Amino acid sequence: MTNKGVVIFGDPVLRKKAVAIARIDDRIRALSAHMFEVMKKARGIGLAANQVSALDRLVVIDTNRGDTKGHCLTLINPEIIGASGSVKLDEGCLSFPELSADVERSERIGFTATGLDGKRFEFEAEGILARAVQHEIDHLNGVLFIDHLGTTKKMLLKKQLEELKKLSKK
Ligand SMILES: [Zn+2]
Repeated sequence: MTNKGVVIFGDPVLRKKAVAIARIDDRIRALSAHMFEVMKKARGIGLAANQVSALDRLVVIDTNRGDTKGHCLTLINPEIIGASGSVKLDEGCLSFPELSADVERSERIGFTATGLDGKRFEFEAEGILARAVQHEIDHLNGVLFIDHLGTTKKMLLKKQLEELKKLSKK
């Protein structure tokens, strides 16, 4: 596996739909470990496989922050099965360095996913975890957080987005 960092906005892989994982083998285990490493280095709370140029439906999450206990999860083929409420929060993405914007998302969600042990599990989430899971599942579908912004906000970010695109081609 290459030792690449996080793919930046402008790279077409971020717009591709990741494919369901049929078998949890050494490749998937290595990919998960690699993603945790990249995420930790970048101080992110979530990372989707697309962001390291792999098109597998795999997400890693780590919402532990300092003394705040969170969740450390590997999500294989995650799916949202329920959602309620809505909340607007400032959101960023490792594929968009130094850029953030208010994004409206469901406040609480229910989701299912398979763990590295091959077992399917169900999870109820709210707060930062609910937001991270929604953001990362979007990635697996080629959807980016800027897609949730209104036209005005997007116009305001246009210049920064163009700069990122140039950066991603380097
Ligand atoms: Zn992201």
